[in-house]
Amino acid sequence: MSHQFGEQPDTAGAGVQQHPQGPYQREDLERYYRATQKIESDRHHIQDAAEELRELEHTGAVEAFQQQVDLLKKRLVNDPKFFNQLFISEGIDAVAWAFQQEELSETFTHTFWNLLLQGDDMSTLLLRFVWNIPLKFKRKFIRALDVHFSERYPMFKGLSQDWPGNNSIPPYMRPAEERSNDFDLVNQGYLGYMGLGYSYREVELFVWLEVLRDKQCDDRPCEMGIPRIDGGENRGGCPVKIHIPEVLHLMGEGKFRQALELIKESNPLPNVTGRVCPQEIQCQGVCTHNERPIEIGQLEWYLPQSEKVLHPEKYLELPEVVSPWATAERPPIAVVGSGPAGLINAYLLSKEGFPVTVFEAFHELGGVLRYGIPEFRLPNALIDDVVMKIEQLGGKFVRNFIVGKTATLEALKRAGFWKIFIGTGAGLPQFMNVPGEHLLGILSANEFLTRVNLMQGHRDGYETPLPETRGKHVMVVGGGNTAMDAARTARRLGGEVSIVYRRTQAEMPARVEELHHALEEGIQLKVLRSPQEFIGNDKTHFVTGARLDVMELGEPDASGRRRPLATGTVEVVPVDLVIMALGNTSNPIVKDAEPELKTSKWGTIEIRKGSQETSIEGVYTGGDAARGGSTAIKAAGDGQQAARQIIGDIPFNASEIKSLVAHAERYTKQGQAAQKILEKIELAENIVEHVVYSPLIAKSSRAGQFVRVLGWEKGELVPMTLADWDTEAGTITMVIQGLGSSSMMMNRMEVGDAFTGIAGPLGLPSRLHRYEQGETVAFCAGGVGLPPVYPIMREHLAMGNHVTLIAGFRSKDLMFWAEPDERIGLLQAEYPDLLDVIYTTNDGTFGIEGFVTGPLGEMLEAAKAGSGRLVGEVVAIGPPLMMRAVSDLTKPYGVRTIASLNSIMVDATGMCGACMVPVSIDGKLVRKHACIDGPEIDSHIIDWDKFIPRFQQFKKQEDRNRQRHGL
Ligand code: FAD
Repeated sequence: MSHQFGEQPDTAGAGVQQHPQGPYQREDLERYYRATQKIESDRHHIQDAAEELRELEHTGAVEAFQQQVDLLKKRLVNDPKFFNQLFISEGIDAVAWAFQQEELSETFTHTFWNLLLQGDDMSTLLLRFVWNIPLKFKRKFIRALDVHFSERYPMFKGLSQDWPGNNSIPPYMRPAEERSNDFDLVNQGYLGYMGLGYSYREVELFVWLEVLRDKQCDDRPCEMGIPRIDGGENRGGCPVKIHIPEVLHLMGEGKFRQALELIKESNPLPNVTGRVCPQEIQCQGVCTHNERPIEIGQLEWYLPQSEKVLHPEKYLELPEVVSPWATAERPPIAVVGSGPAGLINAYLLSKEGFPVTVFEAFHELGGVLRYGIPEFRLPNALIDDVVMKIEQLGGKFVRNFIVGKTATLEALKRAGFWKIFIGTGAGLPQFMNVPGEHLLGILSANEFLTRVNLMQGHRDGYETPLPETRGKHVMVVGGGNTAMDAARTARRLGGEVSIVYRRTQAEMPARVEELHHALEEGIQLKVLRSPQEFIGNDKTHFVTGARLDVMELGEPDASGRRRPLATGTVEVVPVDLVIMALGNTSNPIVKDAEPELKTSKWGTIEIRKGSQETSIEGVYTGGDAARGGSTAIKAAGDGQQAARQIIGDIPFNASEIKSLVAHAERYTKQGQAAQKILEKIELAENIVEHVVYSPLIAKSSRAGQFVRVLGWEKGELVPMTLADWDTEAGTITMVIQGLGSSSMMMNRMEVGDAFTGIAGPLGLPSRLHRYEQGETVAFCAGGVGLPPVYPIMREHLAMGNHVTLIAGFRSKDLMFWAEPDERIGLLQAEYPDLLDVIYTTNDGTFGIEGFVTGPLGEMLEAAKAGSGRLVGEVVAIGPPLMMRAVSDLTKPYGVRTIASLNSIMVDATGMCGACMVPVSIDGKLVRKHACIDGPEIDSHIIDWDKFIPRFQQFKKQEDRNRQRHGL
């Protein structure tokens, strides 16, 4: 800008004042102008005017003027923007002059704002002008908006008071009473004002007004944080070092697009992190406007979101890329887990031309962003956008693939993947281990949120049952983001919700905004309280109350926060549902499968100093898997860091790379293959054997394991035991008894139909012992307990153990696999000396009348009397009551007895805690989980009284589903 701020401009001139031959005769020029106007307007005196014109045309002034007009025309033809610029620079001078006045007049303010609204070059210039003027002039402008525009823009009312430090235009929040009944976005950001009728440009100006508050600090605390005296990691700042000051500067000058590009250089997920980062302890926590920091998070997501709203095609636009799988110039990379750490890593590596496959345990992508953080905080569509971008770059996704179960890291390397990034998060929920925690109606926040967010249990037509919440007393235990999300979700489902936290509100680790919103939505806070015990109804086994310790704060603990101490006072409150949101620890699946992978005592994966590489060469990690429960942005930062380190010297020649890529692509395709039913055999009424194509699960299956099945998109996740598998054919066999609506619907699927997703093999394989001659391993199989028994029994036989199978059915009609050419018959033929088979039927229609416990009791007695084989071990698989009966029977004999538990599960990888098995060790009640500690558990330590009612937890919901399907 040419004008020096503070000078008074000469706005009177028309711009053309000098002539090479000297000054104009200005009067001649004015007369000439009047004569041209007369010709236009006064047709009666046209003759006089024409004469006057002819006379004046030859004056020096008019000739010079005409020459300049010609020059102007020529310039305009060559440079059409010239005219504009001419006026703009004049206009800016006029604006500068107006800003010099004591206050901005109403007319000026209106004109100025209207110019800003035009969104053209002129308005960009004006934005830049205001951005660059000293603060006292900015204040004047805000005062003018406040005084002259508050009627049209109520958010301007009072804005000038204490601006810029303590006053700003807040982003738009939906009112609490409106939002607490639905799952729509709560914080609608600045774009939310469009819903009130403001135009996009008006919203852009609100955003710009927020940016205008920036002090343009030299030491950039929002980006770098504030150094600590002890030299430790800076306090606050941006974990991925977005150049926030430059971003604000670009926005201040109206260059919104460039600002977005700059953010994306450091963070490809601004639309996500802008919404979920705990800004109050990061960038905004160290903002020098400490009373009311600049809304950096809001600005961060405003930029991509406005792009998405305005130019959806551009938002997802990427330069045309040839798939790195096709060019095969770089070796393939495997990314494990699709949370923020994995997604960023996959995005950056794909962008660098690496063929990348992301292996994800769930059927949906996004990790906690999808299954944990609810839609009212973070729309799932944003995760889909990131996935789509990765796919556009050639990245591939294999869902329902559990590294450590479906394949080991070594197997992935053998499959052609050069390097691996592990972003498996920290998904194992913690519990309190207080008495009564086993009661029905007590569940982890992970389970509750997964049932809602991932499985959409609250929506019509979806199968996953939800605990009853409407009108119920819901207690959420914890004070972090998970607690807030669970509480607000329960509130939306009609619950009367209270959050119980053992410290005070000031110590709550949740994002301040979430806590604030929760309170606005009517959620009660019970601070300095901690559950000591849960009380239940003896008949229904549901929780009915909680005994809470009243706490006080003592000395600070290792975390620096004051330690909560019980005061001795106890309070009893009624509850119908308890949601435990106490944080997560690391899931042991990968660690247990990889003895070479070093982990800390907390189970987090260790990394080498200054690197994201683990103890295994070529295997990197980051996010919650390495940090324990942390934040999305830190996970993203680690994923980014690891991507930089992975891009190293490639030790392969071109043909080796091509071969690796071909290999990895084949493997990826196998993982993505539709899991189709190849064969369907009706074994008995309601009992169907399904042979399903699933080559990678078939390759890894071991006796005793199970799979997690999602029948159809709106179905629920259910565990199914593996009855058999064929590595060559790439098939697995499941036997499904149609009891609940999901299993009944699966049994209606036809050959050629595909399951939406089968994940596995899950759980620990059977631990097999070699028994002495004269001993036998007794299998008690109740009904469809026979299919899981079959592969375990086969293993025992193969290793030379004697086996006694006692297979019990309700009646002969329900028996299967007993003919000579069927599975059990064939085994008998193969191992005539090692396998004894006894059938029982409850109604006596086949074999021995009665239960499996009859022949088992006789065996135990005979062994005791020394007249029969010793029973080395009993394996019981079938209905829970039958397993319990077997367990009770064997206990006095001291015979090791294993029950294989097919419990209620959601994720079946330890993430939800739903498959809790209460066991008693040294007289203490301990929580085990069927999916990671089992499914086989020592039946004598199971507290069956507490375990069996768990199968009734969702009975009402299940009945409703059956009715809905007309089953
Ligand atoms: P995750 O997001 O946990 O993703 C890990 C992925 O790996 C999952 O998809 C999982 O299924 C998959 N996986 C696990 N094991 C395997 C395996 N063996 N094979 C294949 N895949 C596997 N942070 C914030 O910054 N702000 C918030 O507001 C916030 N709110 C939260 C709310 C809730 C309810 C929760 C639970 C957490 C919240 N967090 C928040 C924390 C944040 O979400 C996490 O720090 C972040 O998601 C960690 O990212 P990640 O990529 O490391 O792991």
